[in-house]
Amino acid sequence: FSTFAENDRDMNNRQLFLQHVAQTSDAPLALEIVKAEGMYMWDANGRKYLDLIAGISVCNMGHCHPAVVKAIQEQAQQYMHLLVYGEFVQSPQVAYAKALTQHLPENLDCVYFTNSGAEAVEGAMKLAKRFTGRTEIAAFNRSYHGSTQGALSILGDEYWRNAYRPLLPGIQHLEYNNYASLELITRNTAAVFAESVQGEGGVIVPQPEWIHALRAKCNETGALLILDEVQCGLGRNGTLWAFEQLGIVPDILLLGKALGGGMPLGAFISSHTIMWSLTNNPVLGHITTFGGHPVNCAAGLAGFNALLESQVIKDVKAKGELFRKHLQHPAIKAVRSLGLMMAVELESFEVNKKTIDYCIANGVLTDWFLFAAECMRIAPPLIITEEEIVQACKVICEGLDKL
Ligand code: PMP
Repeated sequence: FSTFAENDRDMNNRQLFLQHVAQTSDAPLALEIVKAEGMYMWDANGRKYLDLIAGISVCNMGHCHPAVVKAIQEQAQQYMHLLVYGEFVQSPQVAYAKALTQHLPENLDCVYFTNSGAEAVEGAMKLAKRFTGRTEIAAFNRSYHGSTQGALSILGDEYWRNAYRPLLPGIQHLEYNNYASLELITRNTAAVFAESVQGEGGVIVPQPEWIHALRAKCNETGALLILDEVQCGLGRNGTLWAFEQLGIVPDILLLGKALGGGMPLGAFISSHTIMWSLTNNPVLGHITTFGGHPVNCAAGLAGFNALLESQVIKDVKAKGELFRKHLQHPAIKAVRSLGLMMAVELESFEVNKKTIDYCIANGVLTDWFLFAAECMRIAPPLIITEEEIVQACKVICEGLDKL
C-alpha cells in the first residue's frame, strides 16, 4: 500500500515534499539542498547560497565541520545506542558534561542531556517544581521556548497559546524589560523562564539594570531563575554564554541548537543540589530514550572544542559591527543585535519577504522571526569572513533598492 499516488512519479522532489512531508511553515522555501559545507549550501540545481541563518543558530562553526563529522563517524563505529538514559556510563556524555561544566560557574555543575531545546524546557520546569515544591511558573511575552505543550504554555504569544487550550495552569506572563511586571513573581513562583536575549521576539536585549532586578527578585522570593540560551548561547553574542555579558548567573541554564554541533541535543544544567530533587526519586524523574545520544554528544563535544580552539568568539563583536556598518539603507528602520544575533527591522512582513526572496534568488539565505515577521534574521555561522559580510550586506541593500 504505497501512500504515494500513481501520478507522484511525475512530480519532482519539491512537489513531493509539499504533498507528502508534513511541515507547518506558512511560507516554505522548499529549496532542495543537496550539500552544505562551512558557510555555504548547494541546491539540487547546483546553485550556491551563503548561509546567514545557520539553521537558526545551530551550525555556529559552519556546516559539516570536519571535526564534528569525524567524531560522528568514530562514535557510530563504537556504539550508537545502549539503553534508556542513565543505565550505562556513556563516555561521550561524561566528556561533554565535563567540558561544559569546566566553562560554567560553580553552581552549574550538573548536566541533564535531552533531545531538543523544548525537552530541556520541559525537564527544567519539572525540576523547578520538584525542587521548590511550588506550582506556579512565570515567563515573558514575546518569548519562544519550544513547541511541546508545556513549552507552548509558557510561550509569549497569546494567539498561538489560545489554539492549544487547555494549557498548563499556574502560568503568569510578564513584560520583558519591565520593572512593574517583576512584582508578579511571588513566593508561590517555582521558576521564571527568560531568554538571555529574546530570539523569536526579534532580538530583544535585556537592559542590564532590569535583568539584575529580575535576579534579585528571584533571590528574594526563592523562585529559580531559568535562563534559556538555546538560541543565544555558545558564542553567538560574543561571549561563550550570553549571561556573562549580563553579569548574572541563572539557577538553571537551558541549551540546545548549537549544543549538538548540528546533531539534535539539548540540556538543562543546574547545581548538583537542585538536580538531586529529580534524581533522588528516579521513578518520578525525567525519562528520555534518546536524550544525550552518544553520537550526538560526541558531535557536540567536537563542535564545542572546535569553537573554543578556533577563537572565533573573540571576533563576533567586530563582525556584528561590520554588518551594522554595511546595513545602511533608508528602508531599514532599526537594527537590534548582540554580536551575531541580529534583527533588521523593515516596514512590514511583505517588504521583508520580498527582500528575503531577492536575497535567496541572489544566493544569500535568510528568513524572518516567529514573533517579528517584519524583521530579517541575521545569525550566520560565526566563521563568516569580512568579505562574506560585505557581500551579504550588498545583496540585502540591492534587494531593498528594488522594492
Ligand atoms: N528556546 C529557544 C530560545 C529557541 O529559540 C528554541 C527554538 N527556536 C527553543 C527553545 C526550542 O528548541 P527546539 O526547537 O530544539 O525544541
